Amino acid sequence: MVGYNTKLISNKEELFALVENYEPEGVAKVKTAYEYAEAMHAGQVRKSGEPYIIHPLNVAYTVALMQADIDTVCAALLHDSIEDTKATKEEIMALFNSTVAYLVDGVTNLSEIDFSSKEAEDMANYRKVIRGIHKDIRIVIIKLADRLHNMRTLEYTSEEKRKIKANETLTYYAPLAFYLGSHDIKDELEDLSLKHLYPEKYEVVYNSREKIAKESQEMLQEMAYKINSLLCKQGIPADIIIRIKHIYGIYKEIKKGHNLYDIHDLLALKILVREIEDCYRALGIVHSCYNPVNEKFKDFIANPKTNMYRSLHTTVFSEDEHLVQCRIKTYDMDYVDRNGVLSYWHTQKAAVAAGMTGQLQENFQFLQSLRQMDEIYYNDAEFMAHIRDEIFGSTVYVHLKSGRILQLPQGSTPVDAAYSISSEVGDKALWALVNENIVPFSYELKNNDRVQILLSSENTLPAHYDWANFAKTTRARVLIEKREKGIS
Ligand code: MN
Repeated sequence: MVGYNTKLISNKEELFALVENYEPEGVAKVKTAYEYAEAMHAGQVRKSGEPYIIHPLNVAYTVALMQADIDTVCAALLHDSIEDTKATKEEIMALFNSTVAYLVDGVTNLSEIDFSSKEAEDMANYRKVIRGIHKDIRIVIIKLADRLHNMRTLEYTSEEKRKIKANETLTYYAPLAFYLGSHDIKDELEDLSLKHLYPEKYEVVYNSREKIAKESQEMLQEMAYKINSLLCKQGIPADIIIRIKHIYGIYKEIKKGHNLYDIHDLLALKILVREIEDCYRALGIVHSCYNPVNEKFKDFIANPKTNMYRSLHTTVFSEDEHLVQCRIKTYDMDYVDRNGVLSYWHTQKAAVAAGMTGQLQENFQFLQSLRQMDEIYYNDAEFMAHIRDEIFGSTVYVHLKSGRILQLPQGSTPVDAAYSISSEVGDKALWALVNENIVPFSYELKNNDRVQILLSSENTLPAHYDWANFAKTTRARVLIEKREKGIS
C-alpha cells in the first residue's frame, strides 16, 4: 500500500525512536510502560511462538504512528495486562496515572460475567468498546490497533477461528474504523478479512491489482509529473502520490458486476497542496489538461462527508483513455483523512480527549445513532443487529437545501430524513419534497435525492398517520413514540 506503514516491529527501540520524534519528553514514560508490560507478560508466548510482549509493542507502534499522546501509547503497551496478567487497575494507577488506568480498563474484556456462548461474550465486549466512544475515543483507537495487529498475525490460528475473526472484523471493526475516519486502518482490516475469508478470491484480485499497478505505473507517473510542473509554474508547491484502490474495494466492485477498468477510482492521484484555494486552482489545472467525467466531480471540501472527510474528487481520462481519479486536498485534510478522529485531538492537543468526545458527537452523525441504540436495545444481539443494518449496512446519501448531506440506512424515507434533521422538523413536518416533487412520506429515498421538508406553521402538530411504519431508523422510531406519548 503506497504511503502507509504496515510494518510489523520486533524491537522496542523502534517504538521509542518514533515517540522521540513527536514527543521526546514522553519517551521515559513509554519505556517504563514497556518494561512493566514485559515483566508482567514474562513467560507468555503468542501462537506464533514469539514472546507475548511483541503484540502490545505493535499495538503501541500503530497508535504512535498516529502520533497519539503518551498516555495512549502507555495504555496500548498495557492493554492486555489486566486481562492476562496479575496487573491490576490500582497498580497501573499508582505506577502511571488515572488516565492510563482508565484507558486500560476500558479495553479490558468483560470477564466477571458468565456468558452463555463465545458469541454472546464477543457481542458484550464489542458493546463495551462502542460505549467507550462516548466516554473516551482513545479506548476505541487502542481497540482498533489491537484488532489490526491480531488480523496481521492471524495465520497462526485455526482456520475456523480465522474465519470467525475475519467475519467479525469485516462486519464490525472495519466500518468502525471508517466511521471514525481512519481510512488506512479500514482498508487494511478489509483486505486482511478478505484474505482469510475467501483466500482464492483474494488471490485473484491481488494478482490483477499487481498487474494493473505495473501496467499503469509509467502513465500515472507521467500524469503526476505533468500536473506537478504546471502547479510549480503557478507557484503552488505540491506532492502527488499514486494510489491504486485497495483489494477489498476492487473485490466489492467486481462483485457488483463492474469491469475492472470501469472502476472510476481504481487508479488515483492524491494531490496534496498547502491551502484550500490551491485545491481549486489545482482542480483547474487538472481539468485543463485532462477531460473530466462530469458526474464524477465531487466537492467534499464545501460539503464534507458525514465522517468529516474533505477533498475534491474528480475523475478524468488519461491520455491513453484510462479513468484516473484525482483527489485534491491540503496536507492537513490528508492527515485527518489518514488518522481520523485521532488527528482531531492531536491538532487540538489542548483539548483533552474526553472533552473532544462532546465535539465529536456533533460532527460525526453516527455517534449520535450509536448512543441512541445503546440506550434503547437492552439485548446485546439486538443492539448488534441494529448497528450492522442501520449504521454499517448499505446507506443512501441525500442532500438538503442547506448543502448538508444526510447519511441514512438503505430503505429510509422522508420520515427518517425529517427526524434526522431534528425532532422539531420531524414533529412539524407537513410535506416532503424530493427533487422538487411532493412525495408521500412512505417514499423510499435514493442516493443523491434532494430532500426538503416543509413544516406546519400551526400551533397544533399535524397528523402523522402510520409514520411509525415508514421509519427505518431507530432515531425516528424513538422520536415518533415520544411525540405520540406527548399528544395522547
Ligand atoms: Mn490485545
